Amino acid sequence: MPADIFRRGTLPFPTSLPGFQRLFPDDAACAGYLERIRWEHGFSCPYCGALGQPFRFANRPHVLRCRACRKDVALTAGTVMERTHTPLSTWFWAAYLVASHTAGMSAVQFQRQLGLSRYETAFQILHKLRAGMVRPDADRIGKPGSHDHVEVDETWIGGTTRGEGYGVHGKTPVIAAIEVRHRQPKEGTKVRRGGRYAGRLRLQVVPDRSAKALCGFVEGAVLPGSMIVTDGWHSYSGLANMGYEHLRATEGGDASVPEEYLPIVHLVFSNLKSWLRGCHHGVSPQHLQAYLNEFTFRFNRRFYPFNAFRSLLGIGGKAAAPTYDALYSREWQHPTASAHG
Ligand SMILES: [Zn+2]
Repeated sequence: MPADIFRRGTLPFPTSLPGFQRLFPDDAACAGYLERIRWEHGFSCPYCGALGQPFRFANRPHVLRCRACRKDVALTAGTVMERTHTPLSTWFWAAYLVASHTAGMSAVQFQRQLGLSRYETAFQILHKLRAGMVRPDADRIGKPGSHDHVEVDETWIGGTTRGEGYGVHGKTPVIAAIEVRHRQPKEGTKVRRGGRYAGRLRLQVVPDRSAKALCGFVEGAVLPGSMIVTDGWHSYSGLANMGYEHLRATEGGDASVPEEYLPIVHLVFSNLKSWLRGCHHGVSPQHLQAYLNEFTFRFNRRFYPFNAFRSLLGIGGKAAAPTYDALYSREWQHPTASAHG
């Protein structure tokens, strides 16, 4: 097996673009992959239960036919590819592009990359794959009892202030919680951002900046016992009584304080805003949460494009977002996140 293809359980796992192309060169290879996901120990007919090799058809690789009952079994059943005429290899390539491009793609870029003649096809594939991203990650982030912490902060998104003067007219408040870990510096090497780097992210539209809204978000997003860093905003003052270790970076007019204490969440807000501006030319408040979910989906799987790839295609039932330990162990680190992301 080439060095850029790993194995996880019974399934190979490409860690580079050439690895991906070698693993999925054509529709038959993609079909074989779907088959291995569905039947780890070999085909068994869902209709009659017969075991053993089914019939295969060179011109219809996505269909297997049971030798006993002669019924056809569609490998795409229950996936995003079900009942489409787009070749499997196009779907696989599309999902790989969406999963590994951190900036997201427009339908036009997408059409060009996939070599599709019709814009509508590109649009529909993209639309279906995006539907797999709007599922929010359910488990709470943070790691109680560790030295790592969670940065929590709010920002304003969207709207225009034109003609209304300076302010937040028409803007939507959004709150974020993000895990921050400290990397041990190696001797003689420079450490960026004080050795801090980001773990998992949660983003949510909130009705306002009240204690009820902000602490309510934290309660749903972060495990009690975790260390939480916020700015001095009074709405956060209840966190200590809710079972969190709370460190408040009091602002007191010093603009450098939040930057020093909340660098990661500010970086996320900045990336989120340029993504919303660049890729979507602004987003209306009623759709904002879906975009936040998409941003979060991609961010939380940035070292795991193959997990993202499988979730997008609907073929990785158990390929959920990584856990804290999995993310930080870098067991699956995927070079494409920086190589062509
Ligand atoms: Zn059968």
